[in-house]
Amino acid sequence: MEFDLIARHFTRATPGAVLGVGDDCALLAPTPEMQLAVSTDMLLEGRHFSPQDSPAGLGHKSLAVNLSDLAAMGATPRWATLAIALPEANDAWLTAFARGFFRMADQHGIELVGGDTTRGALTLSITVIGEVPPGQALRRDGAQAGDDVWVSGVIGSAALALAYRQGRLFMEQIDAAKVLPALYLPTPQVALGIALRGIATSAIDISDGLLGDLWHILERSRVGASLEFAALPTLPLVKNYLHEAVARDCVLAGGDDYELCFTAPADRRDAVAAAAQSAGVAVTRVGRITDEPGLAVTDADGRPLPFDHIGYDHFAA
Ligand code: ADP
Ligand code: MG
Repeated sequence: MEFDLIARHFTRATPGAVLGVGDDCALLAPTPEMQLAVSTDMLLEGRHFSPQDSPAGLGHKSLAVNLSDLAAMGATPRWATLAIALPEANDAWLTAFARGFFRMADQHGIELVGGDTTRGALTLSITVIGEVPPGQALRRDGAQAGDDVWVSGVIGSAALALAYRQGRLFMEQIDAAKVLPALYLPTPQVALGIALRGIATSAIDISDGLLGDLWHILERSRVGASLEFAALPTLPLVKNYLHEAVARDCVLAGGDDYELCFTAPADRRDAVAAAAQSAGVAVTRVGRITDEPGLAVTDADGRPLPFDHIGYDHFAA
């Protein structure tokens, strides 16, 4: 049963691999001189998605969140493995899941070369492998005092959509339709990450909320940052539907947007703009890296704004 299932749903041509699905190991030949960027992300039913979620959407999102890590590193996607635990061999579910998964894979030129399939509570664990020229990966430890802080796309949409889906908020259907894709069909900023090689001094993808994720850059780079709240890119919907303090929390600490937060020297603003344009993505300058450690959020007049918490902590009660 299992071999049949793997053959039917997860075995496709892999011209970019020496050997793909079907042997004890895949065989991969990296491009000479390139470094490999490797990352794993796991999605558990009940924690990262709910049983009602569409399987095609899950196929999309489970790969997208992994591709987002490659994007944040400036790596070119090459190969993926997929470990999947399923309560039963549900053919319709697997067909839809594979459709969402391979559509995302094809968009970013990544090939599924192996994995593992077993019976159990629905769990998805994907490992992605990308390539990056030596010394050009966008690490978390390169931010310098004086650098600009940038954010791609808009943030807060996924958190708004989640509140709506959990019934914590009323939204007009037409508005809900504008934010639900951010939650269920996130777009990894792969082209932007690659275009920022040699320009950005550090980068991270925003999976747990802007403040929490930027905080990782600050810690690793041993610097601080000051953000201007009014500059943060968000849909007007967030402010229309939420009270001021909740809207602020949604933009600063809402997770699951999978945009990039990155730093770049102030004299590279034109290069950042050109990189964003080549990737077809909007980027917004939202603050500055400072010498003194800590993270401040200010209003347009430079007065500090209060904020509650820094990000989503998977181990919080
Ligand atoms: P093994 O017993 O050697 O682990 P498996 O029966 O688990 O072999 O897998 C057989 C082949 O199918 C291997 O090449 C493995 O990488 C691949 N495979 C298993 N599950 C998946 C999956 N969900 N997606 C892609 N490839 C898979
Ligand atoms: Mg196995």
